[in-house]
Amino acid sequence: RVVVSLRGLQKRFKRASGEWTAAVDGVSLDIHSGELVVLLGSSGCGKTTTLRCIAGLEQPTGGEVVAGGRVVSSSAGIVVPPEKRNFGMMFQSYAVWPHMSVFGNVAYPLKARKISKAQIEQRVGAVLDLVGIGHLRDEYPSQLSGGQQQRVALARCLVADPQVILFDEPLSNVDAKVREDLRAEILAMKTRIGFGGVYVTHDQEEALAIADRIAIMDAGRIVQIGTPREIYGRPNSLFVANFVGTINRLKGTVTITERGRVVVSTLLGDVVVTGDGIVERLIAGQDVWVVIRPEAIRLGDEALALENTWRGRIDQETFTGASGHVRVAVGDQSLRVRTDGGRQFDTGGDLAVGVAADRVRLLLPH
Ligand code: ADP
Ligand code: MG
Repeated sequence: RVVVSLRGLQKRFKRASGEWTAAVDGVSLDIHSGELVVLLGSSGCGKTTTLRCIAGLEQPTGGEVVAGGRVVSSSAGIVVPPEKRNFGMMFQSYAVWPHMSVFGNVAYPLKARKISKAQIEQRVGAVLDLVGIGHLRDEYPSQLSGGQQQRVALARCLVADPQVILFDEPLSNVDAKVREDLRAEILAMKTRIGFGGVYVTHDQEEALAIADRIAIMDAGRIVQIGTPREIYGRPNSLFVANFVGTINRLKGTVTITERGRVVVSTLLGDVVVTGDGIVERLIAGQDVWVVIRPEAIRLGDEALALENTWRGRIDQETFTGASGHVRVAVGDQSLRVRTDGGRQFDTGGDLAVGVAADRVRLLLPH
């Protein structure tokens, strides 16, 4: 069941220069019940504007927003105002109110409804317990840590039991450790309560961790949409491959095409590629980008059994705990390799470098 649908959504703003520019430029997207879609993209690509259009805080200049089976916004107007949409909202700028206790903050969305005081007490108490801040109900936000304040915001957002929640970088103002806890908390709530919605972030790791589907945005458009595994494993462009995770990329020219297998000539030497749908569509002589994730590369004896093996030299090793990052020179190419942190490599050491044919991606230049 589709709960929110964007159809060719567009939002143009007038610049100080008098020119009009599209912050959102034809976004179409269906959000299903219980599904969390992450809008991922760099700053200024139109994520917040898209979310504000969904919320009813911004009127689109083209296209429409459909919710509950009817058009709620279009260029003709905001048909259903934000407060009537029953969407939960957890925005970065939508902070908790400092002059109200935790209880007051969380009870606020219920006050506008015709609910008895006893019911409000009971409902707020339950939600505060749910997000683990029952003991803070009489505190004021200024006495709380950033992470606790965001728990208050989460409780306030959940209290009216919305089916759809709109999140705009809700974790960007808390430090790394708390961010991970809160992310896990949001996921746990999602499973428990069953809400879905749209989650905006510029943080690719957060997107991969929290999304059912990720929509990658660039300059007001969605350039790819898919599950986190699809986006990471099968990026449809160099832009997406580069934006989500790290890559090694090489220019190549297809030299041999066979069923399900191609050979690409690169500065590393020949690279054999299989298992990528694109190989069936390539012809000899065609230019392609060869994309290899750092964790797909093997070093030492493990590399010898793979279809693609070269000799390389360790240029640099960076130990980061659970994993290591190594720079390996193959000829005059430098490759990034992600290794198991337990293994140590000596700089200057000579060794085999390999990648399996089905771990290489090919992308077409445009
Ligand atoms: P993001 O959330 O991805 O960082 P935004 O949706 O906030 O991006 O902004 C997208 C573009 O629209 C930016 O170029 C921004 O400057 C512009 N923009 C956003 N809001 C307004 C506004 N109210 N007036 C004019 N330009 C705006
Ligand atoms: Mg934003």
